[in-house]
Amino acid sequence: MSDKKSFYLTTPIFYPNASLHMGHAYVMTIADIMARWHRLKGDDTYFLAGSDENTAKVLKVAEENGQSVEEFLDKVSAGFESLYKELEISHDQFIRTSDKTVHWPGALKMWESLVKADAIYKGTYEGLYCVSCETFYTEKELVDGKCPVHGTVPERIKENNYFFRLSKYAPEIKRAIESGEMEVLPESRKNEILAFIGRGLEDVSFSRPKSAVPHGIPVPGDEEQVIYVWCDALVSYISALGYGREDDANFNKFWPADYHVVGKDILRFHTAIWPGMLLAAGLPLPKKVLVHGLIILGGQKMSKTIGNVINPKELIDEYGAEALRYFLARKVSIFEDSDMTKESFKDAYNGDLANGLGNLTSRIMTLAETNLSAPVELPEKSIPQDYIDAIEKFEINRVANIVWGKIAELDKEIQEKKPWESKDKDLIASLAVKLYTIGRMLNPIMPETSAKIKALVKENKKPGTPLFLRKD
Ligand SMILES: [Zn+2]
Repeated sequence: MSDKKSFYLTTPIFYPNASLHMGHAYVMTIADIMARWHRLKGDDTYFLAGSDENTAKVLKVAEENGQSVEEFLDKVSAGFESLYKELEISHDQFIRTSDKTVHWPGALKMWESLVKADAIYKGTYEGLYCVSCETFYTEKELVDGKCPVHGTVPERIKENNYFFRLSKYAPEIKRAIESGEMEVLPESRKNEILAFIGRGLEDVSFSRPKSAVPHGIPVPGDEEQVIYVWCDALVSYISALGYGREDDANFNKFWPADYHVVGKDILRFHTAIWPGMLLAAGLPLPKKVLVHGLIILGGQKMSKTIGNVINPKELIDEYGAEALRYFLARKVSIFEDSDMTKESFKDAYNGDLANGLGNLTSRIMTLAETNLSAPVELPEKSIPQDYIDAIEKFEINRVANIVWGKIAELDKEIQEKKPWESKDKDLIASLAVKLYTIGRMLNPIMPETSAKIKALVKENKKPGTPLFLRKD
């Protein structure tokens, strides 16, 4: 056995019907920071992203756009990939649930495992269905008879469906969460899901009539039904690794996941239905489910209807991907909802990047290039322990705060010791070494800036142009 630790991290597979917004950029960035950290540590790391394509809504939106489902999906997933590339997301795989070669065998194998475990049965479902959520709601869950998310009146649907016996697995799911076998982070979300399970879990509809989702995955042995979203979408976390395919080496190596990173709107699916399915299929549970906060604007959840959406692409075009990654890492709380405006973004950019990190780099490297005859000697290891503790716990804000704390300390030291007067070579060399360490610590958050700073120190050169140009 190798002593290399494996590390597997997933982001939700996104619905391809919404335009890309800051929420997508956020979850991809925090996950990317973790993936980059684990690669840096030498862990054998696998980072999965994807899109959830076998849905009734996709069909509807494709029709509205006058496109075939395939054309529509190809275009949207290309859009995801292009944003990820611009944002320097280092995912190893982008899984698409419409992929019949990669994904479908896993979904079919899961279905068959559930059937074998007697966890699937046929019944009639009558329920209130929100097309936008692709979710059935109970009367209790509605707000004034309307979808709690969309504020629209759900349709009453009666269908012959296959059901998953989720109720049967409730005690085991509860035990797994309570014991920490499957950790739910933060604590408040753990309590929320335990309370939800405590009220009793109902069996879940796991199929839809083929007429509703003609492009869905057919139920084995029943041509009239397709596998419904949970038994399709959630399985992508393991089908991506080869579950259900002949080559399942990655599945054996990386499952169970170290982290599923999810939003609170999909908490229930990941911490009740998904572990239920895995238990029924005799598979290990994910180690941790991390539930991140939302980005809000002016006190409201970002939404197209409210019109307060900030397009991440616009910010990248104007300020660069590194600036956006910085803001998301430092200024957006990982577990709480956070406010964001174009003004707060610009202030952070000018204050912390142009005047802060950029200016510091220029000052130190100008001194170094002028006063040192050769590049400084670099330490083997220099990442502080508090940084390591914070990033290991996924406390991304704290990680960024530690780095900017070091930047402030270094600024202060320069102000106090005035090396431009003394031209003290030892002092200037020690400043360059400290700057290099900051460059190292920046690696997961701002990979390009990190590389630039490290290269400047190694070559003993001042930057040709400022790292971040001030914006007026
Ligand atoms: Zn809805």
